[in-house]
Amino acid sequence: MRSIHHFIDGQHKAGTSGRVSDVFDPATGEVQAQVDLASVDEVNEAVKSASKAAIAWRESSLTQRTQIMFKFRELLADRTTELAKVISSEHGKVVSDAAGEVARGLENVEFACGIANHLKGSINEQVSDGIEVYSLRQPLGVVAGITPFNFPAMVPAWMFATAIACGNAFICKPSERDPSASMLIGEWLIEAGLPPGVFSVVNGDKEAVDALIDHHDISAVSFVGSTPIASYVYQRATALGKRVQALGGAKNHMLVLPDADIDMAADAAVSAAYGSAGERCMAVSALVAVGSAADQLVQAISERIPRVKIGAGNEPGAEMGPLVTAEHRDKVAGYVQRAKQDGAVAVVDGAHADVPSLGFYFGPTLLDHVTPDMECYQDEIFGPVLAVVRVETFQEGIDLINRNAYGNGTAIFTRDGGAARQFQHEVQVGMVGINVPIPVPVAYHSFGGWKASLFGDTHMYGPEGVRFYTRAKAVTARWPVPSSSQVDLGFPQNT
Ligand code: NAD
Repeated sequence: MRSIHHFIDGQHKAGTSGRVSDVFDPATGEVQAQVDLASVDEVNEAVKSASKAAIAWRESSLTQRTQIMFKFRELLADRTTELAKVISSEHGKVVSDAAGEVARGLENVEFACGIANHLKGSINEQVSDGIEVYSLRQPLGVVAGITPFNFPAMVPAWMFATAIACGNAFICKPSERDPSASMLIGEWLIEAGLPPGVFSVVNGDKEAVDALIDHHDISAVSFVGSTPIASYVYQRATALGKRVQALGGAKNHMLVLPDADIDMAADAAVSAAYGSAGERCMAVSALVAVGSAADQLVQAISERIPRVKIGAGNEPGAEMGPLVTAEHRDKVAGYVQRAKQDGAVAVVDGAHADVPSLGFYFGPTLLDHVTPDMECYQDEIFGPVLAVVRVETFQEGIDLINRNAYGNGTAIFTRDGGAARQFQHEVQVGMVGINVPIPVPVAYHSFGGWKASLFGDTHMYGPEGVRFYTRAKAVTARWPVPSSSQVDLGFPQNT
């Protein structure tokens, strides 16, 4: 059995805790490896190595950091397919989708290549006689990133690219379900010239997460995962006075007005609901159809579903792979079963889909006549399940979205510019698409939801990422003309 260890001090280090977790191949259902689960001692070892590395790394020149980021960018671009295959084999998503994930992560590395520009401070000359004030930003030290299973390369890249470029050492605690992507990233960063210890991977579960949060030398914690754990991480880490950004779950609504291009909206709904088997935090899971749009959309989507090619991630032409574990597949199936009992109409039931016999597959599911009180509307199912909620008016649709506990992403489909503008203005959601179903911002904007989708003050990556991974310092400087110097016990004033 293949073992996946930790990546500490630039090297693979076997775990010593004696605890391991199975890593499955979701397409076959077989265990393909076992990943070590770190103890507190092993986390302490990683933090010790990172703390030492951080001291030298913060003194590295911006030129040096930029050159390493450029080199890493080239390695990652050249090896996109290699990484995508690794992601696919542990996560289950199809290789082309995994390559898309790597490409979006690459954008964050490219953003970090411009770190010299992003870290520029500001200066005021002559704030008082002979005095300048300048503001600059400095790294925090050692920071940790705890990441979910659904984007094992992109979500770490949201964090480490900026964190490292800003001069911090970064410790990644990936999901124990698909840890190999971050291990490869660690190796490639060393190859790109990053000093050992600046990027580490500690594999593990709650014990490792708690040890990272509690460690005195960890200055900041970035988290992406489900809402209950995001809330827990936020509370535990902020109680210790740490800086935290914790992104949680989602229930993303797509609002379709009767004037929309229905074919375009149906294509978008199928892509956004069933891509990556719905295991995306920006997946569309609630389709809010206004008036006459509902019947047309349900018809158009149900015609498209049988054409979705389901298969193993590495099967040529496959568009949708299995879910990540059997446990998760069964959870999704349970939601669909209960939705029908609650009165939803299963226009297409994924339990009856023609899927490979082995592996954790569940077919695309379309539920119609879903009402806001139903469990299948309220919970994040995180599978290929699209719930259609019918409303009479545009305003009713906006109100429904605004009442929802989550506020990660949303989209409107319409040809009416005024309606689109009103929607983006009034909707209480962090990321909005206008005729765009999955509005993940590019790397030079920041990513983050509202309400139960984010705990903390800063969104992730982009300009807010730079702010999160640095702290501000304001310097007031005078180079006095000797004759102007005198004792003055009053509070400094600028005249
Ligand atoms: P998860 O919350 O189960 O796990 C996330 C991380 O937390 C993992 O590294 C895991 O090991 C760790 N963890 C799990 N239980 C823990 C506990 N009790 N104490 C401490 N740490 C714990 O999430 P997941 O199933 O890996 O990922 C799917 C979830 O992530 C979905 O809810 C999805 O919406 C969310 N997500 C959100 C975003 C976003 O940007 N808002 C992006 C991707 C995924």
